[in-house]
Amino acid sequence: MFQRITHSPDQTQSIAERLAALLEPGDILTLSGDLGAGKTTFTQGLAKGLAVEDPVNSPTFTLIREYEGRIPLYHMDVYRLGDKAGAENLGIDEYLYGDGVCVIEWAEYIASLLPEEYLDIAIRKTGESERQIQISGKGKRYAGLIKELDQTCPI
Ligand code: ADP
Ligand code: MG
Repeated sequence: MFQRITHSPDQTQSIAERLAALLEPGDILTLSGDLGAGKTTFTQGLAKGLAVEDPVNSPTFTLIREYEGRIPLYHMDVYRLGDKAGAENLGIDEYLYGDGVCVIEWAEYIASLLPEEYLDIAIRKTGESERQIQISGKGKRYAGLIKELDQTCPI
């Protein structure tokens, strides 16, 4: 498990940016944390690290947004699906098993659709501008990735 405390949105984004450098097509990242924790802020850091040029905003009203970068970035916020998500697939598989990096806010709502291995990023608000960031993952690939992030992270 990777764990850091950040004291600004910039610091949170610099962790994400470093993580982005280690990502490959097909990687799946889930983001959990309350509203305002920093899930979208973290995703903006990932986008920067993937050399995405378009601005990344919360996709709450569109479900999925696709960005061009070093690797395509698929940004999903499935909050609006609620727990109906298990019933219908909504074409999410196409993204989960696509050629981009898939980043999912509120992934707990589509837990039953997720593959066995993915990287889980949990963000917790511990102060006005302080956040605890924990990154864990199942499987060999993500374990290695976490180790490398831990050794090279600027924070
Ligand atoms: P979420 O997507 O989880 O609802 P957002 O990323 O949209 O959250 O919002 C997080 C808010 O918290 C932003 O306004 C951001 O500026 C603020 N913030 C303050 N400190 C931090 C920090 N250390 N890391 C991330 N965001 C922070
Ligand atoms: Mg958000």
